[in-house]
Order: sequence, then C-alpha cells, then structure tokens
Amino acid sequence: MAKMFYDADADLSIIQNRKVAVIGYGSQGHAHALSLRDSGVDVRVGLHEGSKSKAMAEEQGLRVVTPSEAAAEADVIMILVPDPIQAQVYEESIKDNLKDGDALFFGHGLNIRFGFVKAPAGVDVCMVAPKGPGHLVRRQYEEGRGVPCLVAVEQNPSGGAIALALSYAKGIGGTRAGVIETTFTEETETDLFGEQAVLCGGTTALVKAGFETLTEAGYQPEIAYFECLHELKLIVDLMYEGGLEKMRWSISETAEWGDYVTGPRIITGATKAEMKKILAEIQDGSFARAWMDEYHGGLKRYAAYRTADSEHLLETTGRQLRKLMSWVNEEA
Ligand code: NDP
Ligand code: MG
Ligand code: MG
Repeated sequence: MAKMFYDADADLSIIQNRKVAVIGYGSQGHAHALSLRDSGVDVRVGLHEGSKSKAMAEEQGLRVVTPSEAAAEADVIMILVPDPIQAQVYEESIKDNLKDGDALFFGHGLNIRFGFVKAPAGVDVCMVAPKGPGHLVRRQYEEGRGVPCLVAVEQNPSGGAIALALSYAKGIGGTRAGVIETTFTEETETDLFGEQAVLCGGTTALVKAGFETLTEAGYQPEIAYFECLHELKLIVDLMYEGGLEKMRWSISETAEWGDYVTGPRIITGATKAEMKKILAEIQDGSFARAWMDEYHGGLKRYAAYRTADSEHLLETTGRQLRKLMSWVNEEA
C-alpha cells in the first residue's frame, strides 16, 4: 500500500509562516489561493497584464500583483498557469526572483519532468496535485471536506520540502481526504498515459466507434447515443463505487457474459501493444515535445480535431437529446 497522509500528519503552521504566491487564477489557481487564504496563509495572486481573471480575484478579496512582483514578495511560488506557457512565465517573471531557501510549487509535473523548467539548486521543488478539477477542490474545502492530492519533491535543499508540501496540501483541504506521496516522474507519466489511453482518448474513441457501427448499420442515432454514450455514466458510477465486481453484480447475466467474451475482442493484444508504444512516447518526452510544438505553432491541428468532433453525428444528436433531459442539465 502507498503511504497516505492525513490532517494529523501535516503541520499547517509551516505554510502559515511562509509567503505564498499563486501564479494564475483559473481552475486550480482560484481554489488554491482562496482556500490557503481561508486557512490563514499569507497569499498574493500573480496575474499578467490584461488578465481576464484579475477582477474576479480582487472581488473575492485577494491582492493581485504581476507575476514578477508576486514571485519577488513570496518565498513559496505555486505555478498554476496552463502547462504549455509555464516555461515562458518562469523565464520572464519567476527565475530572477528566486532566492536560496525559496520553494517552487507545481500542480502537475510536466515542465519539471521534461526539463522545460530548470530550478536553481538552492530552491525546493515540490508538487501538490489535487486529483480533481479546481472547482471541486474549492467546493469540497468550503464544505469541510477535501479532494485527495498527490505530493512529490524533486529538489530538497532545505531538507523540509516534504513537510512544506504536506502543509500546503493541508491548507487546501487535501489531507482531509488523504494525500499520497509520488514523484514528478510517476505523476506526470501516469497522468498523461491515463488521460490519453483510457480516460479521454480511449473512451471517446470507443464511444465514437460504437456509435458509428450502430448508425452505419441503420439504427436510429438517438438509440445509438443512449447505448454508447448516455449509459456509460451509469456503468462508470457503479465501477467507481465498487469496482468491476459491483458493476457486474448490477447488470444482467446476459450483459455480464457479453462483457467477458466480447471485451477482449475489442481491446486486443494489438491495442495493448499500442498502449505500450504510447507509454514509451510519453516516457521519452516525444509526446510532450510534439504537444509544445503544436501549442506554440498556433494549435491548428488541435482546432481542426475539435471542429470535426463538434460536427459529428454523435454530438449533434446528443445536443438535441440533452435539451429534453432536464435531469442531465440539473446535475451539471
Ligand atoms: P487554467 O487554464 O484554468 O488557468 C489559467 C490561469 O492562468 C488563468 O487565470 C489565466 O489568466 C492565467 N494566465 C494565463 N497566462 C498567464 C501569464 N502569462 N501569467 C500569469 N497568469 C497567466 O489552468 P488550470 O487550473 O487548468 O491548470 C493549472 C495547472 O494545474 C496546470 O499545471 C495543470 O496541469 C494543473 N492541474 C489542473 C487541473 C484542473 O482541474 N484543471 C487538475 C490538476 C492539475 P486569464 O485567463 O485571466 O488570462
Ligand atoms: Mg492531465
Ligand atoms: Mg442495454
């Protein structure tokens, strides 16, 4: 079992005795800044000229300065701008404001893992990565709960980096739910692999292929939508609650038999071999480099993929059907 840390394992006073800069005020940034402040931590938010989120941060009672001012004032700097621009923000605003003894924090390991950001040797480098979207992180904190977090330490010249990371995690409610220690390498590689092969890429491709198979065979798109997309939530909820076992306990015997004999015909040895290739491309940095090139080259292929899927019959059918499903919109 991985070691779990809870409230009793973390000392909030460590982060309360530091000055924290949260750079960025998006999904994660707003959750970290507000919850740290509510935990009695001295927080300032660093935002660029013309930032859309600046007014919101100020309305919520936070002091907003430029990213370089925030980094100069603070001794713990958490970078929560989008991953592809972190290296640029680091070079322009943070690097020259780091002193020995400061700590540089991340919410995801990509830029450290692939060497896009290289911190000076005298600076602690830590990660506190909530395993949930930022808006849930904030809501759970306000309700007295928390979202589980991963913590990791890449550089520890102070000797206190793990205690500092746990203290920060406590400040955003993470230790209420449980914190697991990992490394920048493990967090980055498993996160990229999970979202590509299973959670996002694997799932959307599976849903689309199933939907296309049914509609190309002449079945109504509305029926295909329910079978291949809508019901997925019900199945995944059961897996979330009690693993494959609870899901199979709930479905019919016919469905369970079909699950056993058909699943391995869909996800075959060839699929698994491709997964291993995908993992290798993540590990050797080629995925990260290609993504940075795409991002800084103007996101042309990215936009084309998004448009193509938006016009797919699955999506046009779903948009119509969801208008009729008041309960779906209420849940969102
Ligand atoms: P968002 O895209 O939601 O937020 C971006 C924020 O950065 C906005 O406030 C934006 O300001 C600001 N910003 C953009 N450019 C600059 C700049 N040059 N200087 C200062 N601020 C800038 O990011 P996320 O919260 O999604 O991601 C942040 C980090 O957290 C990433 O490392 C991500 O991997 C990680 N993470 C994200 C999760 C999530 O739930 N989304 C989950 C776990 C980890 P404005 O819009 O006002 O211009
Ligand atoms: Mg990710
Ligand atoms: Mg059925």
